Amino acid sequence: MSIADNIASIQQQIHVACQRAGRSSADVQLMAVSKKHSAQSIQEAYGAGLRVFGENRVQEYASKREEFEAEEMFAADARPIFHLIGPLQSNKAARAVEIFDAIDTIDSLRLAEKLNQAAEKEKKIIPVLLEIKLSAEESKHGLLPQSAELTALLECAVDWRNLKIVGMMTVPPFAEDAELARPYFRRLREIRDALSREYPNITLDQLSMGMSHDFAVAIEEGSTCVRIGTAIFGARPM
Ligand SMILES: *Cc1c(COP(=O)(O)O)cnc(C)c1O
Repeated sequence: MSIADNIASIQQQIHVACQRAGRSSADVQLMAVSKKHSAQSIQEAYGAGLRVFGENRVQEYASKREEFEAEEMFAADARPIFHLIGPLQSNKAARAVEIFDAIDTIDSLRLAEKLNQAAEKEKKIIPVLLEIKLSAEESKHGLLPQSAELTALLECAVDWRNLKIVGMMTVPPFAEDAELARPYFRRLREIRDALSREYPNITLDQLSMGMSHDFAVAIEEGSTCVRIGTAIFGARPM
């Protein structure tokens, strides 16, 4: 199957999951996770109509971006947007702000402050998601729910002129059976609902959750953005 065929199939599955959940498929964005895949593959997904992509490393995306520009891969009036969906070190905050359209992995107050300063210098307003760690796994990043740091961050956020919090994201522990991810997705939505009541001035509309094998379950639990890599581009090269 081609990338375009895969995208059509996923769009159909998103549609079905939305119907089952009584939601509109217009409320669920399909993000193509293009990490480790070539600029040409991204162009193919773009050709099939996708406009939102996720990359997990600053340097990797910076190189692809140069290729896009050198090869004039996209129409000037219909540029794709790229989200950073991998962990970001503070020392790369400025570079990330320069090249990404959105950053979905805010996992500390310090990082958020750095990004706000960097965005001010760039004269950009960057939409961001708070990454919430719901799994005990070492390999997972994010702010802990009910932590003092999360509270402090939400209290400081009203002062940030160049960083706009728009929601939350999470990555549950990997399990073949998508049903095992359901409680994590549900928990993220509940945390979001509670914090929205507590901080009515902060918008937390977006819930980025669900990947290739569990996106249908994530949609049933309220996902507004599914991050799909393998099911679009095939297995990632090592
Ligand atoms: C790689 C990655 C994905 C995509 O995973 P697939 O299983 O290939 O769909 C989604 N989200 C994050 C944060 C990732 O790092």
